[in-house]
Amino acid sequence: MHEASLAQGLLKITLDSVRSYNAEHPEAPAGRITALRLGLGLLSCVEATTFTGCFELLAEGSEAEGARLDIVREPLDCTCEDCGARFSLSRRHFVCPSCHGTHLSFSGGHGLTLLSMEVEKMPPDTDGHTQDTTDFRQI
Ligand SMILES: [Zn+2]
Repeated sequence: MHEASLAQGLLKITLDSVRSYNAEHPEAPAGRITALRLGLGLLSCVEATTFTGCFELLAEGSEAEGARLDIVREPLDCTCEDCGARFSLSRRHFVCPSCHGTHLSFSGGHGLTLLSMEVEKMPPDTDGHTQDTTDFRQI
């Protein structure tokens, strides 16, 4: 299943990121992962509910168990082949806003990107959350 393999990839990247972060910051290691913010390409056919369900299942027993997924649609950067206009599409309506041409070129838009993650600091006596923005990674 498409969503399951993507969720597996996301989980691996997430756990790897936390482990490498902890290796670099042994004085303030990250604990549980509480939230993940994901960008979903405009052309991606991932179904968010299915994906979230798969992730929850796979994350059981790991540092990411119970993490909240925030999935946002990422706009797609396009160039009009007719008039050269550059614009970004936020829905699947492939028409140039300047000349109404339909010869658009674009790249990407299929993937799922881990935008940022929210982790709980260890030890638990430091209250609150910390925001750790990771590098943009394409799954
Ligand atoms: Zn145009």
